[in-house]
Amino acid sequence: MSIHAPISQVTNDAFREIFQSMSEGIVMVDEMGKIVIANPIAEQIFEYERNELSGLSLEELLPERYRGRHINFRKGFNAHPEPRRMGFGRDLTALKKNGQEFPVEISLSYTQVQGKILVMAFISDISQRKKAEDALKRSEEQLIVYAAELEKKVQSRTEALHKTIQELENEVSERKKAEEEARKSLEKERELNELKTKFVSIASHEFRTPLSTVLSSASLINQYNARGEREKIDKHIQRIKSSVNHLTSILNDFLSLGKLEEGVIDINKALIDIPQFIESIREELIPTFKPGQKFEVQYESPINDINSDVRILRNILFNLVSNASKYSDQDKTILLKCRSENRNFIFEIIDEGIGIPLQDQKHMFERFFRASNAGNVQGTGLGLNIVKRYIDLLGGIISFSSEYGKGSTFTVSVPV
Ligand code: ADP
Repeated sequence: MSIHAPISQVTNDAFREIFQSMSEGIVMVDEMGKIVIANPIAEQIFEYERNELSGLSLEELLPERYRGRHINFRKGFNAHPEPRRMGFGRDLTALKKNGQEFPVEISLSYTQVQGKILVMAFISDISQRKKAEDALKRSEEQLIVYAAELEKKVQSRTEALHKTIQELENEVSERKKAEEEARKSLEKERELNELKTKFVSIASHEFRTPLSTVLSSASLINQYNARGEREKIDKHIQRIKSSVNHLTSILNDFLSLGKLEEGVIDINKALIDIPQFIESIREELIPTFKPGQKFEVQYESPINDINSDVRILRNILFNLVSNASKYSDQDKTILLKCRSENRNFIFEIIDEGIGIPLQDQKHMFERFFRASNAGNVQGTGLGLNIVKRYIDLLGGIISFSSEYGKGSTFTVSVPV
């Protein structure tokens, strides 16, 4: 070992022992950058022979690209020496004797010997640690890549799943729609069939009386004609007319119902002159009234033109006024009250007839329903059902109040 004279004081036995046995490499360097002494571990790290490092310039242990910078650094340290770690925050590398570069960690300290600064560099070869760190970093990076790939995969699988669910949902809803449509058309077909069956049974029952009236009145007219009995002839002509009217109204009800069932009724709104419209209904209905029955019309507010479907409105009024007459005795009054209120045409048909028993009232708008007191008054139980459906088509409402044996009031409101 070539130890320079000035450090002879520090190289006492104790120091030598520590120096030799340190697990870190130690290199002591003078102010000129010459290596004064290096411990065996340092020689091992840099792969130099025993004592071979002493006397070398410190820069020889550095990769060439750092050497110039390092000379300045060394000068700076000598000017303001203080113990510290070297290269904090960046990777340091050193050079082995065979020129191989390897990563190191270096701490610096110093001592003064005879007024001269002696710098001590504590060096660890961190190749193994670096390798482990790099491997860790690589596996971390790989982990991040895996995680990203996994996330992408999960995302694409989720999207595919959503798509499948959506397709399944669409399929289910389409199937449901088709089933619903099939059910509806089956239901419609069933109802139409039921209607046809009902028509046959009603026709065979309800047509019999008016048809036999027509037949007997026709043959009586024949006889009265031969005898020149004018008054009786007129009476029977009237009977024939009313029987035919009755037959026509039954047929009309079935036709309306058929159209309503098929949903083929169009609404054609136009301006209707109400007083004129009501007068035409009165003219048509008065001949069908029972003897002594009166038809009164009251306008509770001035009404002229309203915007509605005249055919539908006519059918509604016709049905309700006919019922009022049908279910009232002779000489009774049928009152029609009309008013216009908040863009609605409101009318009430008030009769003094047989009324509707309380227990029957909830069924009034059901198809084919006839109240228990309808007795042998001719009817099919279709009129009110049709009226209600027409009013629904117009977006209106119908209600009634009735007292058994005293009379009924039907109230209709339609938007205009
Ligand atoms: P229809 O008169 O052909 O039987 P509707 O559907 O017009 O059929 O009426 C259903 C039932 O409601 C009638 O059978 C009758 O019992 C009862 N009804 C309808 N209007 C009146 C009324 N103004 N007064 C008493 N009962 C009525």
